[in-house]
Amino acid sequence: MFSVTRQFTFCYGHRLFDYKGKCHALHGHNARVQVTVSLDRLNSQGMVFDFSELKKSIGTWIDEHWDHRTLLWEDDSLVPVLQAADQPLFLLESNPTAELLAKRLFLVAQEKGFPVRKVKFWETENCFATYRQ
Ligand SMILES: [Zn+2]
Repeated sequence: MFSVTRQFTFCYGHRLFDYKGKCHALHGHNARVQVTVSLDRLNSQGMVFDFSELKKSIGTWIDEHWDHRTLLWEDDSLVPVLQAADQPLFLLESNPTAELLAKRLFLVAQEKGFPVRKVKFWETENCFATYRQ
């Protein structure tokens, strides 16, 4: 089994709903994600995937949907307020935790046809979540 991993960094804001800690307040992160794809055999160029394919596909999706946006649960009471202020949002059916954002990006990579193995999502320099199937 061969694997390659592409790393992406971006900025986002969020807050956690129904949560008693500091992350209940609206705040931002400098996120880092790693997307790992795996195949049993290499292509004719000796690669699992060209890193630039991952950048073009998944990196573009991150830029267009998550970078410099506020990621919120769709029922968060801040949604209409921020929409009225013309702020860029990305709405989720769940709390925007590192775990669920890792899963969401995993599914995005899968929908784009990549044989994704796992996604690691760093919310801070010291804390990350991993989603794999
Ligand atoms: Zn946070």
